[in-house]
Amino acid sequence: MTEKDYKLGTLCVQGIYNPEEGESRVPPLVQSTTFQYNSAEVVGDLFDLKRTGYFYSRLANPTVDQLAGKIAKLEGGIGAAMTSSGQAASFTAITNICSAGDNIIALNNIYGGTFTLLKASLKRFGITTHFVGLDELEQIPLIADENTRLVFGETLSNPNVEVLDIEKAAELAHKVGLPLFIDNTFPTPILCRPFEHGADVVVHSASKYLDGHARSLGGVIVDSGNFDWNQDRFPLLKEEDPNYHGLSYTETFGPAAYLVRITAVMLRDFGPTLSPFNAWEINLGMETLELRMEKHSANALKVAQFLEGHDKVEQVSYPGLKDDPYHELSKKYLPKGSSGVISFRYKGGLEETRDFIDSLELCSMVIHVADVRTSVLHPASMTHRQLTEEDQKAVGILPNTVRLSVGIENADDIIEDLKQALER
Ligand SMILES: *Cc1c(COP(=O)(O)O)cnc(C)c1O
Repeated sequence: MTEKDYKLGTLCVQGIYNPEEGESRVPPLVQSTTFQYNSAEVVGDLFDLKRTGYFYSRLANPTVDQLAGKIAKLEGGIGAAMTSSGQAASFTAITNICSAGDNIIALNNIYGGTFTLLKASLKRFGITTHFVGLDELEQIPLIADENTRLVFGETLSNPNVEVLDIEKAAELAHKVGLPLFIDNTFPTPILCRPFEHGADVVVHSASKYLDGHARSLGGVIVDSGNFDWNQDRFPLLKEEDPNYHGLSYTETFGPAAYLVRITAVMLRDFGPTLSPFNAWEINLGMETLELRMEKHSANALKVAQFLEGHDKVEQVSYPGLKDDPYHELSKKYLPKGSSGVISFRYKGGLEETRDFIDSLELCSMVIHVADVRTSVLHPASMTHRQLTEEDQKAVGILPNTVRLSVGIENADDIIEDLKQALER
């Protein structure tokens, strides 16, 4: 099958797995750490990157590769590397081109885990971050200096569901020679393909909609192949690597330089590898990705409209709503739907909001978003409880903020559950 002629939904179901005569119809699970060879010379060439092949699953495994290939196709990239979690994907994607003394520019509304990674943990290794707001994109070229390596943002932010103007961010980053990295976890490539808008590298937490069933953690880094890494700004890719007999990634691998180094150095040395079993499960989940994203989006819009019209609800954030401040951007970047996450404020204080959440029956209370089951959480007393009220406010979390991840159940049942809890 020549996948490039197929639409996204077809790629989700059948993408890049082409069994030969008599082979299993569904992608097999190759649950093996290692692979057998009969020639020492061949194995030597594998180590020197002179030949490609599987030899140890920390670097590459057929089941993991199959999933990476499917996601790369869906995003329209030249290739992808899987990681053990979304956090591992962001960490690996960034540190593949950053060393101590370097800095990055990031949007300040990104996922809390990524925010802490940049603000605190990478700082310990001498990599610092300048944070900018969504309304301060023009700052990007002004803040950038010769040690800046990349710009990082989210298509649709977690948890506040704000839409980034990707084209504008890409243009401003490119103006000063920087690549734009996008976390595309909430839309998935079904709802938005950031490379079409100028992004250069895409990362995902595959633990969310890609897996879709709250079973397997995973992450992925996808390379568009469009960014020219052969610049003095990226010595880790351009200069000779003494650990591979002085090979230069840009010289040897051209547009794949960034991706090859992820496997050859980052997975080899740091080991944030995805397990074949998780890859196999995430692939199974992804077979229904298009169906699920359509249903998540349709359900979330109905639920958001219900909440908007209810007098026990103070405010609703969902870019699919006509009055949402990000509605115009959502029409451009999310024309097929705004995904399944809604943020809203209950009319009441911290205690009342907690009581409301406790009264929900169908909507389950979990620290997760983006799976088939509708789930709810109260950021002020759960995910963001370690922040002061002031810091919570700075990241858009008030005592009465509720984050709802709308599943694929019947929308009427979800609305009925919210209604009984709101009116209790
Ligand atoms: C959950 C999440 C992550 C982190 O992913 P894990 O798989 O939990 O490590 C990163 N970015 C976004 C937008 C997320 O929602």
